[in-house]
Amino acid sequence: MGRALIIGAGGVASVVVHKCCQNPDVFDEICIASRTLEKCEALKNKLEGGRTKIRTARVDADHADEVIALIRAFKPDIVIHVALPYQDLAIMDACLATGVPYLDTANYEPPDVARFEYGWQWAYRERFEKAGLTAVLGCGFDPGVTGVFSAYAMKHHFDEIHEIDILDANAGDHGYPFATNFNPEINIREITANGRYWENGEWVETLPLAVKRVYDFPEIGPKDMYLLYHEELESLALNIKGLKKIRFWMTFSDRYIMHLRVLENVGMTSIEPIEIQGVKISPLQFLKAVLPDPASLGSRTKGKTNIGCIYRGLKDGKQKTYYVYNVCDHEACCAEVGSQAISYTTGVPAMIGAMMILKGHWKMPGVHNVEEFDPDPFMDALNQYGLPWQENFSPALVE
Ligand code: NDP
Repeated sequence: MGRALIIGAGGVASVVVHKCCQNPDVFDEICIASRTLEKCEALKNKLEGGRTKIRTARVDADHADEVIALIRAFKPDIVIHVALPYQDLAIMDACLATGVPYLDTANYEPPDVARFEYGWQWAYRERFEKAGLTAVLGCGFDPGVTGVFSAYAMKHHFDEIHEIDILDANAGDHGYPFATNFNPEINIREITANGRYWENGEWVETLPLAVKRVYDFPEIGPKDMYLLYHEELESLALNIKGLKKIRFWMTFSDRYIMHLRVLENVGMTSIEPIEIQGVKISPLQFLKAVLPDPASLGSRTKGKTNIGCIYRGLKDGKQKTYYVYNVCDHEACCAEVGSQAISYTTGVPAMIGAMMILKGHWKMPGVHNVEEFDPDPFMDALNQYGLPWQENFSPALVE
């Protein structure tokens, strides 16, 4: 059916590649392109021999001209960007220049400012519209499936959604005292930022990790979870009409929080470059280099993740609650694709989003967040491709 250019060769990209190869009726040919060619070659060597043809290429996606040259050589039908958020705009520029649809899993962040928001990418809307091209933003799990869940809740269960709580629990244990489950630099930038939630048309700011609740998660049990700002809050607050409140919660163990606080207190989470023996480097980039590579956690991690959304609103004039979530087992993911569940829960939706575009289910010229598309074929594909979801109509609520 189509050819996909997959940019990046880290934890998430590895899952995307595995899943595309499991789906050769849709992905005839893929090209794995990243900064370090050896990582692309390693993936190719592991997976070639099936019906999906695999090519590799070296690309520095910070430079749009390199991506343009690669697109012209490979002629993909979709670009799946699963490198880092810093490359979003350069890759979008390349897609515009070559007329290819775009999909990513994280919104743009300038390397030198720890701030993420959709504004930079939404500014491309008109150009993608005029070019007749679809760009899908944030198609991992959160953001991604959380937006699809929201569109599904709105379509099938509510007339009005008033409150959303997004709950992201990871009960996995990798045996290290401290490691992050995806790119440490991006992860720590997100967690050490101020918390923020949206209520009655306004953003309410909190200090980092200042708001804590305990929630008894299905199949995982009670966990401490903390209020964070997360990028899908921005688009859902806009796209779910009538919404009064939306919050995002993520679980962290006491051990994780203790390490993070120490690292913060000694200045290791700063992105401000410092000079050591004539070399300028940010402490956070140095920290990334000494922490375990998230892609290496797969074989060590045991336990489950549970990510989902609790909705409160009105149906036929009556109050209604609805909880939809996925439980994913780290060891089962590793047995299937060699990665832990955080990479798996991000990579599977990225493959599904690309499939939605290639099959023509999601075609809407412009730059869009996932909740703007029809959720039904995506929800079916989640069940089919390894992320089955469950529902509860009387869940415990987060107060
Ligand atoms: P990794 O750090 O494991 O992998 C990143 C990959 O991108 C590496 O292969 C890296 O190459 C490559 N890369 C970095 N810079 C460039 C560049 N300039 N040009 C080409 N390739 C480059 O990250 P993850 O796989 O964990 O995360 C990938 C993305 O997924 C991130 O944007 C992250 O924010 C997002 N994510 C989204 C989630 C969601 O639910 N929506 C959840 C988790 C992650 P090299 O090997 O040379 O360093």
